[in-house]
Amino acid sequence: CASQSHDFDFFYFVQQWPGSYCDSQKSSCCYPTTGKPAADFGIHGLWPNYKDGTYPSNCDPSNAFKPSQISDLTSNLQKNWPTLACPSGNGITFWTHEWEKHGTCSESVLSQHDYFETTLNLRQKANLLQALTSAGIQPDGGSYTLSSIKGAIQNAIGYTPYIECNVDSSKNSQLYQVYLCVDTSGSDFIDCPVFPKGKACGSKIEFPSF
Ligand code: 5GP
Ligand code: 5GP
Ligand code: 5GP
Repeated sequence: CASQSHDFDFFYFVQQWPGSYCDSQKSSCCYPTTGKPAADFGIHGLWPNYKDGTYPSNCDPSNAFKPSQISDLTSNLQKNWPTLACPSGNGITFWTHEWEKHGTCSESVLSQHDYFETTLNLRQKANLLQALTSAGIQPDGGSYTLSSIKGAIQNAIGYTPYIECNVDSSKNSQLYQVYLCVDTSGSDFIDCPVFPKGKACGSKIEFPSF
């Protein structure tokens, strides 16, 4: 209905490149107890945001994460939303953090089960690795420009992403996370109302292997 209001304006749907999480200067990584993830982008999260760039977090301490509510999604989550933090885990700690910090802020729109199912559906719709490799941008340690990376994703998905870089142990800038914007129902990509205010990536962005 036209007058419906939400306590947020849109979502950032954020995917991470595991190779860049694992060889970053800040942290090393640990493979999940369920095994080394595929060499593909994994989900970091679905984050409610305001169009002024600020965002709500930890909105409902009474709505704790309950693994039993997503048991039908567990194998899909292990594949597409793997945890790489140390010590190794089965994903529950990561998903709990994402639900409690971000998911509770969209609970008026998406129940706990639907929040995870919706995020997995977005992952299916946004195949970033395919978008990049079809444009000749491969995870082989080569370097690419920011505009070529953004253009390849815009071409394949139809929307301009925001690219977050981190640095490897040799201080090279590398492709770490890709942000796409999603409407408040969680079903469609939209043009971003605002891009995150992050650091510049530099002129050469490495795409490391995993
Ligand atoms: P960092 O400070 O490493 O960029 O972000 C730390 C965490 O803050 C992220 O993993 C995410 O939970 C949250 N965060 C950072 N930037 C944004 C943003 O622009 N929107 C939202 N909703 N959360 C963010
Ligand atoms: P955010 O940055 O969304 O607030 O949350 C990141 C938190 O999730 C950190 O506490 C981090 O240790 C944990 N975490 C667990 N697994 C992963 C992972 O694979 N990637 C990232 N970025 N954070 C993870
Ligand atoms: P412009 O709006 O002219 O494309 O970019 C302005 C500044 O924002 C430039 O320093 C450019 O490198 C940076 N920028 C544009 N898009 C992105 C992006 O997706 N990620 C990051 N990290 N910086 C960006």
